[in-house]
This record gives sequence, structure tokens and C-alpha cells, in this order.
Amino acid sequence: MKTVTPILLFLLASCLLMGCSSRSSTTTLPVVPSLKGEYIFRQHDEPPLQIDPMVAHQRAPYPWEEEKLCHYPKITKDFFRCKGSVLNPVRLVKKEKEEVRYYDCGGPQKHSLPLRDHKEFIYPILIDLLNDIQVQTGKRVIITCGHCCPDHNTYLDPSPANQTSKHLLGAEVDFYVQGLEQQPEKIIELILAYYREQPKYKGLKEFEEFKRYEKGDSHVSTPPWMNKEIFVKLVKKEEGRDFDNRHGYPYVSIQVRYDWDLQEKVIYTWDKAFRSFHRW
Ligand SMILES: [Zn+2]
Repeated sequence: MKTVTPILLFLLASCLLMGCSSRSSTTTLPVVPSLKGEYIFRQHDEPPLQIDPMVAHQRAPYPWEEEKLCHYPKITKDFFRCKGSVLNPVRLVKKEKEEVRYYDCGGPQKHSLPLRDHKEFIYPILIDLLNDIQVQTGKRVIITCGHCCPDHNTYLDPSPANQTSKHLLGAEVDFYVQGLEQQPEKIIELILAYYREQPKYKGLKEFEEFKRYEKGDSHVSTPPWMNKEIFVKLVKKEEGRDFDNRHGYPYVSIQVRYDWDLQEKVIYTWDKAFRSFHRW
């Protein structure tokens, strides 16, 4: 046994050495193909290739860079959904002898917008006007109150005067413009200009021309503007604060007076307010 062990070790070592040497002998370098040049032949009178001088071109603006194109998402009827929420706290309102508790609605997850022809409906003039304001100003319109379901409407303001609000019909909107919060007069001017400039209203005096509403029942200190189709209120900072308008800015409120499609006045009815939307 003593003589066998060194022999085995010797054989093992020699095998390892043989392996190393055989590997090194088979390693070959990659063959680089011989590169050959190619001559370019040119006639002796041939002019050298002319390269036009580089001129800087002004690139055309991208759609979003074009002037008067709105950077913000287009306003749709979805922006008008009821602002109610089950998370809003119970409101306690003191009446003559007792405190009345008002609960908010379940929000847009629990009911639809008003319906017309089985589809959700907001008066298109409101959507068109707000989109026009966004395009003209390049600033975002913030809708603070669009459609109100009856529960949310009472929660905002339980006074009898508010129970026939056109917010219930999808015919009224309260909003301000981000960046122009303190200049609501500019927004009013844009609304009046919309009626002067839209081809749809060309030559129709009752739409192009606005009158001021001087009666004292509008609850605002600035006399509202009205034409045949809309009634526009400027609500100052210290006026018209309800639960949806708790912000500290003046705002603009537009009510629809005339339904262009049906050619009739927009009037509150209990049926339209309470029965013309789905509840889930
Ligand atoms: Zn609601």
C-alpha cells in the first residue's frame, strides 16, 4: 500500500498537466479576413460632390404648443357629476325650535347625471362655454358645483329658495378659473364675447346682446348678465358660500334659461329634479 499511493499521486498530477497542455495547444486566434480597399474612379473633369450649405429651419409647433390650444383635458359631462359623498359629515341646521340633521348623498357612485333620451345629459351650452374659456385663457376651469341630486342640493343649502335650483336639472354650473381666481370679470367678458363671435348666434340679437338683471332677488351685489339662453352671476368672495363653494375665491355661476334643442324655456319641475336620474 505504501508504494501504491505515491504512484497514484504521480499519475493524477501528470494527467492534470497533460490536460492543461492539450487545452493550450488547441486554442487558436480568430482569423481576421484581409480587408481590401476599393478605388473610387473619377473623370479628370468631373466636379467634386457639392454639399448644400446647412440652413437652420424653424420647426412647426407641435399641436400642444400652438397658441390658443388648450393644454387641459376637454371638459365633458363627467366633470359635472354630483360632488356629494358619504364621507361628508352630518350637517346640523338650527330651525325655529329644533336642530335638523341633513345627510349628504352617496355621490356619483350611487346615482347618475340627469337623463334625456335614456342618456346622461348636461346642457351642452355649459360644456361648450367652459371649454371655450379654457381655450381662450389657456387655464384650467375648476367646476365647484355642476349637477346636484336632491339630497346633495338640500345638504348644501336647505333654504326653500334653493330647492328649485337648476343644479338639479344639469342646467347650472359654478366655477372659477385657476390662475384668474381674482379676475372673474375677465371670464364674464369671455362669455359675452362667445355669443358675439359664434356663427350659430350671428344675427340673433336676443342671444348676441346681454341685459343686466337689476332686481334684488339674485343674492349677489353685481347685477347679473342675461340673454335669451343664459343667466350669468358673478359671486364675490363674501357672497354665495355653500358647502361646494367653501373656497376663498369669487366665482361665476351660469344658469341655462333656454333649451336650444327643444326650443323652449328651461324651467324647474319636481319630475325633472327627482325622477330623471338613476339611483343604484
Ligand atoms: Zn348626489
